[in-house]
Amino acid sequence: MSEEVASGARRQQAQAQHQTQTQCQAQPQHQVKTQRQPRPQALLSVDFEDWHQLVRRRLGDAGWRQRTDALPRQTHRLLALFDELGVKATFFVLGIAARAYPELVELIAADGHEIASHGDQHRPVHTQTIAELSADLRSARQTIEQITGRSPRGYRAPAFSITQSARWAYEVLVAEGFDYDSSVHDSPRIRRRITPPSASPHLVQLPGGSIWELPLAVWRIGGMPLPVGGASYWSLLPRSVVLGGLHRAGSMPALYLHPHELDPQPLRSGLSHSAGPSQRVRARARELRRNAARRRAAPIVRAIAQHFELITYREAHAELEASRCARPGALPNEGEGLRRPL
Ligand SMILES: [Zn+2]
Repeated sequence: MSEEVASGARRQQAQAQHQTQTQCQAQPQHQVKTQRQPRPQALLSVDFEDWHQLVRRRLGDAGWRQRTDALPRQTHRLLALFDELGVKATFFVLGIAARAYPELVELIAADGHEIASHGDQHRPVHTQTIAELSADLRSARQTIEQITGRSPRGYRAPAFSITQSARWAYEVLVAEGFDYDSSVHDSPRIRRRITPPSASPHLVQLPGGSIWELPLAVWRIGGMPLPVGGASYWSLLPRSVVLGGLHRAGSMPALYLHPHELDPQPLRSGLSHSAGPSQRVRARARELRRNAARRRAAPIVRAIAQHFELITYREAHAELEASRCARPGALPNEGEGLRRPL
């Protein structure tokens, strides 16, 4: 190693150390749990969006923004389930859904759940430019702040779309002040996905700062990934496989649900009267597919809650930061290949 490179590396190390010390001093200690339950922890989250809005928009229905009574019904079911289990979750709230149903976001926050960001328009990150992603994040943040009075600290990309060509998104998230991300899902269904360096939470270090990545739960069996954290997979897998997989999916495996997965009624997209026959056929196909993929969400969450201590991302982040401060340099991190494209 040349002297110049070595001195650059020393400088970077000193900067990283300084940054860690500053963040450690700033860490609100009251958020750190002092008493651990004997069960392993898992992260409980909801991608809070209106399935009906998104389907109608995709099918080109001009009235896609209109409210229906489905999301309120679904949200009440979710909150009742979490209340029954005595757990709090992180809700990654989508801007367009929050503006259509602000009272639901208010209700979720009032129940003590964490409100994080799912972005604003539900456009895949890898289809956006840096400026577009920044604008999308700011718009969602503004909506959430107006409704709850608090800034979201975490982000989940629509359809886990921080893929190999969108690693630059981490720099945008750091620049926008986020503490953590949960967009990496090592599922074979996601094209050009990032394979995380660890199935457990890890720090992504960048020139402008660092951010925690908390990957969705995946059990690697002989090198093959089996997603076990999402309700659509729970409809296909035996309960014992889901539970066994979560125990083997690294520390703090992350779970995700959608409100429509808790709907007691069959999903209906609710197209406008003006929709044509082709739109109706495509909507029916989506309804059938989605209704089949959302069975067993509530019973599986109940079973998981018996085996795991379900916590929010905010709680997990506080614990991770406390560990980092106690043992700087001992945690896994990812810092390579994250430069934004020129
Ligand atoms: Zn989504």
